[in-house]
Amino acid sequence: MTDTIFGKIIRGEIPTDIIYEDDHCIAINDISPRAPVHVLVIPKKAIPRLADASNEDQELLGHLMLAVGRVAEQLGVSDAFRVVINNGSGAGQTVFHLHVHILAGADLAEAGMAG
Ligand code: 5GP
Repeated sequence: MTDTIFGKIIRGEIPTDIIYEDDHCIAINDISPRAPVHVLVIPKKAIPRLADASNEDQELLGHLMLAVGRVAEQLGVSDAFRVVINNGSGAGQTVFHLHVHILAGADLAEAGMAG
């Protein structure tokens, strides 16, 4: 199993403010926010990239999307947020433990598709 900074955070080895947690994922504020709200939703299972997910992860992936909605609601941004998953270093992925970025609080309509 690949270990990353997110694995250490999930195991409590690096103290981090966990703003949401359930049986299958956590959410934390991004250490280097690219928007006024920039949160990462991270499955506890260490899947390196979205492309590495398999059929057995189907339920987990659905769970993650529902958790994204709950976290957005909790943060008061459920009317306007963007979800980004970077897959592979060519797409800007730097931590190889699947995670979903939630970006909000900026004028996302103006920013178009930019992550
Ligand atoms: P990626 O580029 O892999 O899609 O996103 C990784 C994100 O993790 C980056 O936005 C980066 O700022 C964030 N990040 C990296 N290390 C840490 C950390 O130790 N704590 C937190 N909260 N975020 C981190």
